[in-house]
Amino acid sequence: MTDPLADWDIGRPLPRDARVFVAGSSGLVGSAVARHLRAAGFTDVVGVRSARVDLRDADATARFLDETRPAVVVDAAARVGGIAANAAEPVEFLHDNLRIQANLLDAAHRVGVGRLLLLGSSCIYPKFADQPIREDSLLTGALEPTNDAYAIAKIAGIMGVQSYRREYGRSWISAMPTNLYGPGDNFDLEKSHVLPALMRKFHEARVSGAPTVTVWGTGTPRREFLHTDDLAAACLHLLEHYDDPSPINVGVGEDVPIADLASLVADTVAFTGDIVYDTSRPDGTPRKLLDVSRLLSLGWKPTIGLAEGLASTYQWFLDQQGAQR
Ligand code: GDP
Repeated sequence: MTDPLADWDIGRPLPRDARVFVAGSSGLVGSAVARHLRAAGFTDVVGVRSARVDLRDADATARFLDETRPAVVVDAAARVGGIAANAAEPVEFLHDNLRIQANLLDAAHRVGVGRLLLLGSSCIYPKFADQPIREDSLLTGALEPTNDAYAIAKIAGIMGVQSYRREYGRSWISAMPTNLYGPGDNFDLEKSHVLPALMRKFHEARVSGAPTVTVWGTGTPRREFLHTDDLAAACLHLLEHYDDPSPINVGVGEDVPIADLASLVADTVAFTGDIVYDTSRPDGTPRKLLDVSRLLSLGWKPTIGLAEGLASTYQWFLDQQGAQR
């Protein structure tokens, strides 16, 4: 089989008939990436859902890659969760993610995947990194303990990409998105991230007429939120324009205190009651705003503002609720 990327060079559009495997295509991020690639004209985007491959299983992963032989791989497969899930299940967050990454990278190398993008997270950076966080602050300080197991696994993923570049000359890359949200998110109240959790809490309070909604922590930590449609567009841009061992940050360049996020979500769902803070719950890292100048210099910027993204995500949430009834 001829290599579909044989005549392709960095800075040029990838051939739209190249087979792209999006690992994790049934999740929040992978589904957005697969959607965006198809909308951008890719005709051969494959996921693992139908084949039901467990990427934690090395043999199954190797077999799947052997059969599908993609030219491009996007690794959006991960065990992910919010502050409570990460703190409660560090073993799974460490081992599942280490396995998924090692299995995918090894199998992708074996079948000669030319371009691979591994997705991580902004929690790989030190808890007290200078803000906004530059890519070169990686491994310069201690991690935030509520998600250190996940962070170590993702740092190992970055090292995996760098090692394949160094040892085998693979032009593989890694990107570190900030906190993500969008349609298809996990709205579980204990395990999810803050944005979907608050959306559901405020929605249910409005529907039931509850006078208050409880927000965890003090409301003072700041977080940056990127819509997954923006992330998906950034992924394609990076696959076509970025070729460097350093991970690259993907964010919007602004953050908000959790208290402001809570007010925005309350406005979005039309909740008019009071917000109370449960300070027995952890705040986590005080701030993790990404420095996105490297990404901006590649000619990409996000387009979906937080209020707009909240409104469309809430519409999706309502549609889902309607569909389940
Ligand atoms: P983090 O970014 O890794 O800390 O993960 P989260 O998205 O889970 O939490 C972000 C911040 O939102 C933390 O300070 C949480 O304490 C706070 N937060 C407030 N209310 C909630 C909630 O209902 N669920 C979650 N997951 N976080 C909340």
